[in-house]
Amino acid sequence: MAKAYDNFVKEITSKDEDFSRWYVDVIRKADLADYSSIKGCMVIKPYGYELWENIKNSLDKRIKATGHKNAYFPLFVPESLLKKEAEHIQGFAPEVAWITHGGEEELEERIAIRPTSEAIICDTFSQWVESWRDLPLLINQWANVVRWEKVTRLFLRTREFLWQEGHTAHATAQEAEEEAIKMLGVYQEFSENALAMPVLVGRKSEGQKFPGALHTYTVEALMSNGWALQAGTSHNLGQHFARVFNIQYLDQNQQQQYVWQTSWGVSTRLIGGVIMTHGDNSGLILPPKIAPIHAIIVPILFDKTRDLVLSKVEQLLKNLSDSIRIEADTRDEYTPGWKFSEWEMKGVPIRLEVGPRDVNNQQVVMVRRDTREKTVVKETEMKGEIEKTLDAIQDNLFQRAKQFRDNNIYKVKDFKEFEEIMEGGRGFIYTNWCGSGDCEDEIQKKTSATIRCIPFQNSEPTGPCNHCGKEGKYMVYFAKAY
Ligand SMILES: [Zn+2]
Repeated sequence: MAKAYDNFVKEITSKDEDFSRWYVDVIRKADLADYSSIKGCMVIKPYGYELWENIKNSLDKRIKATGHKNAYFPLFVPESLLKKEAEHIQGFAPEVAWITHGGEEELEERIAIRPTSEAIICDTFSQWVESWRDLPLLINQWANVVRWEKVTRLFLRTREFLWQEGHTAHATAQEAEEEAIKMLGVYQEFSENALAMPVLVGRKSEGQKFPGALHTYTVEALMSNGWALQAGTSHNLGQHFARVFNIQYLDQNQQQQYVWQTSWGVSTRLIGGVIMTHGDNSGLILPPKIAPIHAIIVPILFDKTRDLVLSKVEQLLKNLSDSIRIEADTRDEYTPGWKFSEWEMKGVPIRLEVGPRDVNNQQVVMVRRDTREKTVVKETEMKGEIEKTLDAIQDNLFQRAKQFRDNNIYKVKDFKEFEEIMEGGRGFIYTNWCGSGDCEDEIQKKTSATIRCIPFQNSEPTGPCNHCGKEGKYMVYFAKAY
C-alpha cells in the first residue's frame, strides 16, 4: 500500500530541531549506510558506495594526472616499525588496534592494523630508493584504515574507514614542499568543482599538525550547522621519517642524502561533508558530478495509458543513458507522490515526470532538486536541457554553499564576541592569534573552537591576540570542528 507523501517526509528530523539527528536520518533514509554489529563501524550500502566510487574515480583521475601511480601495501604494521618514529606513534597510540594472536598462537611481536601507512611505506621506500634516478617516487594507495575511536559518527568518524593516502619521496626540501602544496591544490579544486564544497586553505598550527610532520596543510569546509570539517590534509614530512627509516639516495656527486617526503589523504568523511554542506529538510542534495543517478524518471501511470507511458519511458532511457546516469522508477506499489519524495530524499539532481498528456505533447516535466523549479521540456531538446541543467545545479550548489560560508566568517572585536558566536550559530572566526599553543588550548577549553588553519593569504596580524592580548602573530580561522 502506498504511503502518503507527508508521512514519508515527516520521518526525518528537521535540521533546525536537531542537526545530528537530521544527519543520521538522512543517511539511513537515503540508504547510504547502516550501523553494524561491530561497534563504531558502518556498512556502506550500495547507494552510498556508488557515491564513494564516483568520488574515488574522480579524484583518482586527478591523482594520476599529477604523475602518481597507485600501489597497495599490507594492512599490518609490525609494532617495531610503527614505534620507530616517536612522535608518530605517540600521536596514534590511543587509536591503534593490535593483533596479538595468529590462530591460537600468541605472536612474538604485536602487529598493528594500519592507522596510516607512513611506517610500512617508508620501510619499503628505504629498499626502493638507491640513487637520484629513483626520485621523485610518487605513490598513492586506496585502502581501508583502522583507528579505534571512542566516539563515532557515520562517515565522519568510524573505526574503519576508506581513504587514499599519497606518499612521495623527493631529492630536495623544495620539491617536497611544492608537492605538498600541489596536492593541497588538487584537493581544493576537487572539493570545489566535484563536490561543490568551498574550502579555506592554509597551514595547521603546531598543535593541530600531523604527528611527525614538518608542516600540515589543510582544506577546511563549513557545514550548514556552522561546524567546520577538515576535508583533506597534505603533509610536508621533511626528513623525519627518512632519517628514522634510513631512506637514502646517492646524489649526482656520489654523496648519500636523505630524501624529503610528503603524505596526503582524503577519506569517506567527504561523504559526510557533502551531506552536511548541501542537504535540506527533504534529504540529500547531491552535486551532479558525483551523484550515482543524475535524473530519475517517474512515470504517471493510469490503467488505460500505462503501456503508452511505459514505452515512452523505455525510449527515453535508451536515448539518454549514453551520456546521462538516468533511471526510471516503474514500481507499481508506490504512488508518484511517494516516489517524488523518495528520490528527493536520495538527492537525485533531476526528476523527470512523464504522464499520458506529456507523451501526447512530446514533452516531459523536469524538476530540479536544488531549487524545485519545474519546467516543461520538449522531447527533442531533452538531452541538451538535462546536461545544461546538471551544470546549472552543480554551479548553484557551489555558489549557495560559498555564500553561506562567506556569510558565516566573523571578524570579532573581542573575546566576548568570540564566545558568543561559538555559543550561537557558530561559523569561522577570523582573528588575531599570538602563536602560543597554551593560548590555543585555553581557547579550545573555553569555546571548544580550534584553529582550523593559518591561511596562505592575509594571515598578517592586524592587532594583538584576541584571547590573551599579547602581540598578534597571525590572523587565523577558528571553528568548532568535527
Ligand atoms: Zn594568545
